[in-house]
Amino acid sequence: MNELFKELFGRYTLADEVKAQGIYPYYRPIESGQDTVVKMKGKDVLMFGSNSYLGLSDDPRLKEAAIAAIKRYGTSCSGSRFLNGTLDIHLELEEKLAKLVGKEEAVTYSTGFQVNLGVVSLGMRDGYIFLDSYDHASIIEGARLSFSKVLKFAHNDMSALEEKLRVAPIDCPKLIVVDGIYSMSGDIVPLPEVLDLADKYNAAVMVDDAHSIGVLGDHGRGTSDYFGVTDRVDLIMGTFSKSFGSLGGFIAGSHVLLNYIKHNSRSLIFSASMPPANVAAVSRAIDIMLEEPERIDNLWKVTNHAREEFLKRGFDIGATQSPIFPLYVRDMEKCLRAVKDALDEGVFITPVIPPAVPQDSIIIRFALMATHTVEQVDEAIDKLEKIFRRLEIIK
Ligand code: PMP
Repeated sequence: MNELFKELFGRYTLADEVKAQGIYPYYRPIESGQDTVVKMKGKDVLMFGSNSYLGLSDDPRLKEAAIAAIKRYGTSCSGSRFLNGTLDIHLELEEKLAKLVGKEEAVTYSTGFQVNLGVVSLGMRDGYIFLDSYDHASIIEGARLSFSKVLKFAHNDMSALEEKLRVAPIDCPKLIVVDGIYSMSGDIVPLPEVLDLADKYNAAVMVDDAHSIGVLGDHGRGTSDYFGVTDRVDLIMGTFSKSFGSLGGFIAGSHVLLNYIKHNSRSLIFSASMPPANVAAVSRAIDIMLEEPERIDNLWKVTNHAREEFLKRGFDIGATQSPIFPLYVRDMEKCLRAVKDALDEGVFITPVIPPAVPQDSIIIRFALMATHTVEQVDEAIDKLEKIFRRLEIIK
């Protein structure tokens, strides 16, 4: 092994230190499909750390659709959409997605990360990109590749956004990128206000709806539909690894924008396309989402119940407005200990620690699915309350 590499990479010791304390929380193997109960080390565990908001990732109908697609099209497209990797079902799915979110066209990528990487970086040499400080890592990476000036504004703070917008010359290209529901804090972007500022300062707006499709809007159409502002939003991004029980992502917008993206976005053009099984699973998930609105109703029922219970028992849940609950801990060791103790008690939750968030925002993320029951929520919150009190996270 190269000595310099060994020295550089060997400086990272945190994971080993945490392992020695027995509270390492990452790469924990799950031995089953991902629904409200999963198998870990042969035992049933209540899952509250998933992004499968509609509870579809282990749905038999998605599995059947995926198997049928494998039988017909094989296991891989062996190349990118651009050259040899476009199937008829990719095109059908893209039409469905465009219609779902109310835009002219959509194109699919192999992951949501690649969408943000390949879209935020485009077309804006010498422009300005404005990012909410809570925007997802993939948006930040896209901005880094853009050759634009990148200005961050304080989370959901519209006067901070306006202050940054004032800096840029009125006639240079500008893009504001926001999440619909923020993945860690669970609050919703004040999109109409973002759009008013965008109009005032002549900026385009892109919304990352990774955590909002299947959760917000009519039949889960997302944040722009929820606020009734779809026509004013330039680009809507979504991922298939959350509500849609699959893997991949999409960007939707007008023909002009999509035409440019399809012929210039490098993470689309130079990367293999979504495999047939994933495409078929997403397509079936959209049908189910539209046919069974009761799934979203239940998601909100368990969400509202969890909110009441957390508040009643003295948890600090920040400003969440969604099925994502940040349980504020603000201490790294207590956070990791609580995650470990919860798993020992049969509850899977996830830690969010620096560098993902600053020290004073260390949280445990607790997320709901449409398939959770009120009883499961109560059982988990009972256990978490005991752990949080024992560790003096809540008094
Ligand atoms: N955007 C947001 C807001 C996300 O939370 C994520 C995934 N955590 C992504 C984009 C990337 O999506 P994917 O998992 O499909 O790569």
